Amino acid sequence: MFEFYERMVLEIGRCVDYTGRTIVLGEGNANSPKLAFIGEAPGATEERQGRPFVGTAGKNLDQTLEALGCERAEIFITNLVKVRPVRQNIKTGRLSNRPPTRDEVSLFTPFLLEELALVRPMCVVTLGNFALGALTGGKGATIGNMHGRLATTAGEPGVVFDLFPLYHPAAAIYNRKLREVMERDVLKLKTVMEGYV
Ligand code: URA
Repeated sequence: MFEFYERMVLEIGRCVDYTGRTIVLGEGNANSPKLAFIGEAPGATEERQGRPFVGTAGKNLDQTLEALGCERAEIFITNLVKVRPVRQNIKTGRLSNRPPTRDEVSLFTPFLLEELALVRPMCVVTLGNFALGALTGGKGATIGNMHGRLATTAGEPGVVFDLFPLYHPAAAIYNRKLREVMERDVLKLKTVMEGYV
């Protein structure tokens, strides 16, 4: 894992867009955990702390983990895109988050597949559309029709994972209906997780 991250950091650092930027690596149990959670990309807090899901969305993810009865150290958490996607306000110079571009998804997807092949989770839990699209080749798979159901997905050649798509924790922050759907989905994921030995 260390060698892979070392190479990934070198390769990403060589891209002009990312020179000098913080690269947020995955963390947690990298040794065949029951679950690996895959987010979209780091936000401002994650960039500052250099850790995935430590901002507002991270608090929601922590509630999900509590409902599942597991600790961060037991599972693996990472993002599809490892550098915070930002746009700059021309007038104020302020940076704000933006969704990843197609080019960013293309650049970072092979790194995610390699990361997952090394971590070998029993089940990959994608959070939101970007991670789901990256792991299903974007073949019409949307979170709207795949959330809360166990599926499988191919990673690197010869690697197949159980896949359990969830809505992104940030999506549920201001949407009560979605929060209820999320809560039901998480209970289903708990049952799936309890089936792994
Ligand atoms: N923080 C992350 O690390 N990933 C997300 O997708 C959102 C917030």
